[in-house]
Amino acid sequence: DDGLAGKVALVTGGASGIGRALAVAYARAGVSTVLGYLPGDPHDPRQAVAEAEAAGGRAVAVACDVTDPASVDAFTDAAHDHFGRLDLVVANAGALDSAGLADLSDDRWHRLLEVDLTGVLRTLRSAAAAMTGGGAMVAVSSIAGGVYGWQHHAHYAAAKSGVLGLVRSLAVELAPRGIRANSVIPGLIETPQSLDEENSLGAEGLKTAGGGIPAGRAGRPEEVARAIRFLTSDDASYITGQQLVVDGGLTVR
Ligand code: NAD
Repeated sequence: DDGLAGKVALVTGGASGIGRALAVAYARAGVSTVLGYLPGDPHDPRQAVAEAEAAGGRAVAVACDVTDPASVDAFTDAAHDHFGRLDLVVANAGALDSAGLADLSDDRWHRLLEVDLTGVLRTLRSAAAAMTGGGAMVAVSSIAGGVYGWQHHAHYAAAKSGVLGLVRSLAVELAPRGIRANSVIPGLIETPQSLDEENSLGAEGLKTAGGGIPAGRAGRPEEVARAIRFLTSDDASYITGQQLVVDGGLTVR
């Protein structure tokens, strides 16, 4: 028994990509999910909810902009409002921006860190306060924040590195409360973020890059979702403060 059935989870950035795949993985495992969506994002969160329901689970979509503390707290409250408890939180929301050093203004730096680093703090802080019966948290970092050098993404890399330290520290602080905290480090995963031609590789770039990945292809969002599901389940009951790389071997080749 992985202990997931009957649990309630918060997932930020849940309208697309990895978050959306996680809603389905959680639905299959019997977890009820509050899916955060960024108002104005082109992806319809109702589609993610419908997929989770089709997989036999319960899910609701709630607006959540991680740059706004009040929005994050209201999102956290929705777990109790809809499902009566909170056990799991996944800080998955993230933004991407590409800029060489000369173009990396303070403003650009702060704007990205506000989402990718401070947004993670807000999400985990708000959820931890509501997780009165223990639980588990996962933050989604990136190989760019782990060991991989990605040029023209210094601000993204700094934020994603910051997430790893943040989570390690929380793992120690929250262990006495029965809360585990781990990071997932995805490699190249086929989602709207990596398909973005302007700030990431785009569809062609993803295909070409696949040749340099030992697994021979980019990853699927479901493959990251399953790693997150594992880390938040009782199968990982003695794992905390760790980083699970999901990259088809890219960073060990
Ligand atoms: P995605 O673009 O589908 O998902 C990101 C989600 O975050 C979107 O739904 C977007 O609306 C949301 N978001 C953006 N700004 C937000 C804000 N201010 N508040 C709340 N939500 C916000 O792409 P994805 O690849 O599924 O991204 C999920 C996570 O995985 C991100 O943290 C990303 O950095 C990370 N990641 C992705 C890859 C990859 O190759 N796709 C690799 C490493 C890490």
